[in-house]
Amino acid sequence: MRKEDKPHAALLASPGMGHLIPIMELGKRMVTHNDFHVTIFFIASDHASATSLVKSTTLENLDIIALPSVDISDLVGPNAQLVAKLFVIMRESLPSLRSSIAAMKFRPSALIVDLFGADAFDVAEEFGMLKYVFNTSNAWCLAVVFHSARIDDEFILEHHVKGQKSLEIPGCKSLSFRDTLESLRNIDRIDRPKFHGHKMTNSHGILINTWEDLESSTIEALRDNNLLGTLLLKVPIYPIGPLVRQDGNLVLDKQVKQWLDKQSIESVLYVSFGSGGTLSAKQMTELAWGLEQSQQKFIWVVRPPSNNALGTYFTISEGNVDGTPDYLPQGFFTRTKDIGMVIPMWAPQEQILSHPSVGGFLSHCGWNSTLESIMNGVPMIAWPLYAEQKMNAAMLTEDFEIAVRPTVSMTEEIVGRDEIEKMVRTIMVDKEGQAMKMRVKELKNSAEKALNKGGSSFNSLSQVAKDCMFHLQP
Ligand code: UDP
Repeated sequence: MRKEDKPHAALLASPGMGHLIPIMELGKRMVTHNDFHVTIFFIASDHASATSLVKSTTLENLDIIALPSVDISDLVGPNAQLVAKLFVIMRESLPSLRSSIAAMKFRPSALIVDLFGADAFDVAEEFGMLKYVFNTSNAWCLAVVFHSARIDDEFILEHHVKGQKSLEIPGCKSLSFRDTLESLRNIDRIDRPKFHGHKMTNSHGILINTWEDLESSTIEALRDNNLLGTLLLKVPIYPIGPLVRQDGNLVLDKQVKQWLDKQSIESVLYVSFGSGGTLSAKQMTELAWGLEQSQQKFIWVVRPPSNNALGTYFTISEGNVDGTPDYLPQGFFTRTKDIGMVIPMWAPQEQILSHPSVGGFLSHCGWNSTLESIMNGVPMIAWPLYAEQKMNAAMLTEDFEIAVRPTVSMTEEIVGRDEIEKMVRTIMVDKEGQAMKMRVKELKNSAEKALNKGGSSFNSLSQVAKDCMFHLQP
């Protein structure tokens, strides 16, 4: 089909690798499975890894455009939550999105944004485009976002301080305060970030990076107007996932590959806290000791224990004699040289997880990491840090039973080395871990079924494609 005859969709990613990666996957799938032409917009200067991800992605009918970065220092307070900053960055990027689309000869007929980009629907309306939301997280998270927009401040107060009441969401798993969404922890109504509920419900559909069989009752609740109220009236819900990177063309770093090749099957624990997660110095020390005490093989993506901005890289050259950086226990590298490998800052996660030697993932439970773990049949140690990660950890441990979780609340307390050792041994050695492995492999099969031709996610995305095609007709 000629480019001009294909449906053309524009996808807008908000800053953060956790948003850009699934948007890129959606774009690639629309091109390869649904015969779309796709243009992806992302915010330049986002994350150092974003540039290399974009550069390494070449696909016919997929264009990627960097929108200039915006200075929001005068627009948000220094203590604003990350979510609030994302909304402002996306709003300030609208003029460049608008002029970029206006300059296109072959204009897109649909705009797909993530949860932070719904302001861009104003631009979509100006150009007569269809409007879709792509929730890069799960259906439960979306239900909580919508439900929290409807409940009053009094209830938020009750959820927060007065008895820490759980959020009862019709048709969905209830949400305990321990696991609540980060934005709901903020009791100040003015500062609490607001998702664009009304804009999302006035869209042509909401795509979710999940699949019917994984979250069937929550998806049903989202579709049922009586359960979630009038907010979601008439908005089609499309579970189209799990969309994760599975790039067979990329080659693992030689040193990492050689090390993994030498290990026995499913014997290595991969430890990573996503694109931005960092631990306190005290917590890092306990984690290092816990890994060492477990005597299990590990690959640990390490960042200095500070609030370094995203994308600041470091070298492990300073510190102690054996190269151990001074924020890890002295001699750690020497003592763990036969069992562990430390990778500074950023690792090729999807390739590590897909290596047959990897058998466990200690993760911050970002939704992409969670899906990548499931798609590689790897059970997890759930170590949530921010955003909706505590909700994800609750689902993984209580509903899917494919993860263990520390008993303490990680934001307030330190997880001790003995507990870490125990969790590592549980998923890597114990019978309990074997049972989790079986369950996660069942989930992987169910996910693959959903994505294959005729599966629920395949059909959902085909429906979106049909709507866009129809919109093209004169
Ligand atoms: N990631 C990676 N290497 C790293 C850290 C993260 O490739 O060292 C990727 C990871 O595979 C995932 C994404 O970055 O696709 C992180 O998304 P997620 O939703 O898990 O967490 P976030 O970083 O958004 O908190």
